[in-house]
Amino acid sequence: MGFNDKRKIVIAIDGHSSCGKSTFAKAIAARLGYIFIDTGAMYRSVTLYALEHGGIVDGIVDEDKIVSLLDQIEITFRFNPARGASDVYINGDFAEGKIRTIEVSNFVSPVSSIGAVRSKLVAMQQQMGRHRGVVMDGRDIGTVVFPDAELKIFMTADPKVRAERRYAELTAKGDKVSFEEILENVISRDKADTTRAISPLRKAEDAIVLDNSTMTVEQQMEWFDAELNRVLSSLE
Ligand code: C5P
Repeated sequence: MGFNDKRKIVIAIDGHSSCGKSTFAKAIAARLGYIFIDTGAMYRSVTLYALEHGGIVDGIVDEDKIVSLLDQIEITFRFNPARGASDVYINGDFAEGKIRTIEVSNFVSPVSSIGAVRSKLVAMQQQMGRHRGVVMDGRDIGTVVFPDAELKIFMTADPKVRAERRYAELTAKGDKVSFEEILENVISRDKADTTRAISPLRKAEDAIVLDNSTMTVEQQMEWFDAELNRVLSSLE
């Protein structure tokens, strides 16, 4: 029996910044014919909108202003076959490139620690996954968004390895960034995400850990296949 003959499940992928969660989640979704949802893109979209509409001025995050902007922000995803994943749109405008700059990365953790931001986005994510058959990556998927996910993975890797990967990705796109700046961002986002009051990043008790510091994408997929088979046979 193939994967698709079995009942659709929710696969929750949480973990530290820049450890390849989206690449991994995208590959899994393509293999299973599931929908891939990058929840980080949603927090980044709110951050970008806040930067462009007076919610963050001179490096100061104005929580009340951001909360008042929330009703004006419509986030949608449209599948892009060339990328094999969905692009994010803010109020109908393509925002995929703009949400991945270092400026957005530097403000996304404080913005995502605002309770009203989280409630809005968590409700959207639960709605998107209501028919199951989704691979969702983020920080609180297995703990808050889908605590009943059948397969929960907690991804991590050495911070230097993560910074090297992110540095290669940004410089390949032509962004002018230094390795030190990226490493600093990776470390400070880990700290902010794990210590915030609401829905901090933590491993769900029933999540399995994948440390991919020295693993290739192929090795990670082999590891995943074994875990998926284990979960699916336990559901039969
Ligand atoms: O996954 P990505 O690195 O794009 O996420 C950007 C930021 O969004 C994270 O550092 C975190 O602060 C926030 N985030 C979150 N909860 C999620 C997904 C992302 O708080 N489910």
